[in-house]
Amino acid sequence: MRTTPNKRCREVEDRIVRHVREGASLSDAPCLEGIDEATFRRWRKCRNAEDNDELPLRDRRCWSCANCALQRRCDEAECLFKQSCIRTIHRAGERNWRARAWLLERRYRQEYGAMTVIEDVRESQPDPTEVLLAAICAPMSTLPKDEKKGLRLPNSSQ
Ligand SMILES: [Zn+2]
Repeated sequence: MRTTPNKRCREVEDRIVRHVREGASLSDAPCLEGIDEATFRRWRKCRNAEDNDELPLRDRRCWSCANCALQRRCDEAECLFKQSCIRTIHRAGERNWRARAWLLERRYRQEYGAMTVIEDVRESQPDPTEVLLAAICAPMSTLPKDEKKGLRLPNSSQ
């Protein structure tokens, strides 16, 4: 049996935390129980902390309010979900080293991530605007012969 939407009670909280434990995001998990994301965020906002929305929820927790307790349960549920996925990857890694390589590559991107070299070619190629300006400003005598042929003044008859 479902409770009234937006009604906060331990049962609804437990179900939401279970969804997070199974991998649902903190916006999807309350949605599955008919609770909108903003309401669920309010449920997790510390009652004792001064209003400081610049700090993430994790940095605004205390040990004496129910909202912080709910936030902690969600944090723990997220960690448990991640850990269960990591365990699955390890089990797969016993049969196929690629599973662990995949994990290593993502967990320690700096050390084991695929190396991609991106060459900055802007330095080696001339700026097209500068080339155009130089051509416009250059006296006809400084231009190579072939380029003189292609240049025509406006309203010239030939
Ligand atoms: Zn608190």
